[in-house]
Amino acid sequence: MKKQKICIIGGSLTGLVTAISLSRLGCDIDIITDNIGKNLKSNRTIAVSQDNLDFLNKLNISKNLKKEIWSCSRMKLYAGRNKEKFSEVFELDNEDKERKILYMLENSKIMKLMIKKIKKIKSISIKNNKKVLSISNSGLLKRVEFNNNYNFKYHLVIICTGQNSNLIKDYFNYKTIKSSYKESAITTILKHKHLKNNTVRQIFLKNEIFALLPISNTKTSIVWSVKNSIKNKNNFLLKEKIKFYAENFLKNINFSTKIENKDLNFLIRNKYYLDRILLFGDALHVIHPFVGQGFNMTLRDLYSLNRILNQKINLGLDIGSSDILDEFSSETKSRNFIFSVGTDVLKTSFSNEKFRNDILKILNKNNFAKNIFFSIADKGLRF
Ligand SMILES: Cc1cc2nc3c(=O)[nH]c(=O)nc-3n(C[C@H](O)[C@H](O)[C@H](O)COP(=O)(O)OP(=O)(O)OC[C@H]3O[C@@H](n4cnc5c(N)ncnc54)[C@H](O)[C@@H]3O)c2cc1C
Repeated sequence: MKKQKICIIGGSLTGLVTAISLSRLGCDIDIITDNIGKNLKSNRTIAVSQDNLDFLNKLNISKNLKKEIWSCSRMKLYAGRNKEKFSEVFELDNEDKERKILYMLENSKIMKLMIKKIKKIKSISIKNNKKVLSISNSGLLKRVEFNNNYNFKYHLVIICTGQNSNLIKDYFNYKTIKSSYKESAITTILKHKHLKNNTVRQIFLKNEIFALLPISNTKTSIVWSVKNSIKNKNNFLLKEKIKFYAENFLKNINFSTKIENKDLNFLIRNKYYLDRILLFGDALHVIHPFVGQGFNMTLRDLYSLNRILNQKINLGLDIGSSDILDEFSSETKSRNFIFSVGTDVLKTSFSNEKFRNDILKILNKNNFAKNIFFSIADKGLRF
């Protein structure tokens, strides 16, 4: 049978990792990216679980991947201030365990390694600076048209264009649950005095969540979720507030990157695929970042997709057929739905200060509950 062709649209985390993972299927893959350089300038970081790190390691992205991973063995959650200090309400300690709590990566660094890897894989062709304008039928296949009148035909088109792309609006906007948290995530990276930096900290404040995520002994990534009205304050005031919070744990703080902000939404698609087109990554589901699980969900989806396509391709089947995409959708949709809704319920109920503190204090005393909490964050829901 002639080699099947896959088109991956979107060259950020999801598009790149999907291309590397699916390159083992023996298909030809085109990855279409509108502006790969823009993604490489971001200060964003990502926490991945042990299970997903094992998956990334199996992709052999680069020998240098290990150097870019920072392991965090402790997690502490704080609520409000007690005199001069934030009061600790929850601690998870995996210092002596092999499986650490989470592993931090800088998005730009991992994307650079992935692009380098992709350039070495003969079956993948990167088409950069190309914006996909339309997807249409061409006999049994799909025709993808980009700017400059280019067009190619594919057995399967995987849309990894994030949550706001017009391409998706055209095909999938019906039956989508989408809402705005009316919040933004303000992100930056702080440089500070050397310390043993392996504790992830998250401080719950009234209408704000301030997370300190270590990325080396001298650098910590900040993800600060705030009401939308705060994001428009001038940079000086935002920096002063970030310093004020961070100084509780870090010394000699400097800003290593600019401040960025991202509107926070919740999104679940009811339809995962349509006629040889599959949604993936943030195009498929978006959750609040306070649990650090959005990309972890995508990696779990990718594991399933890879396994299903591999089985079918070995049987000589058409990988864009509805039966196959339906199998993927059936395997992942309910677990993603429960995971996303669970995160949203947690986010909403945690807005109630008393409820949140009581729950965290109870959980903190219960090792069995802590183990369940850790296992879900590590492996997702399994059923
Ligand atoms: C503040 C914050 C912190 C987070 N922290 C974590 C964490 O710790 N752990 C975790 O697991 N997840 C985390 N997440 C979630 C994670 O960042 C996202 O799930 C992930 O980055 C989504 O990547 P993506 O490639 O699917 O989408 P995007 O990053 O949105 O990329 C989409 C790409 O497609 C391109 N594109 C759009 N339209 C077209 C077109 N027509 N043609 C070609 N290209 C197009 C865009 O330019 C862009 O490059 C966090 C999210 C936020 C906001």
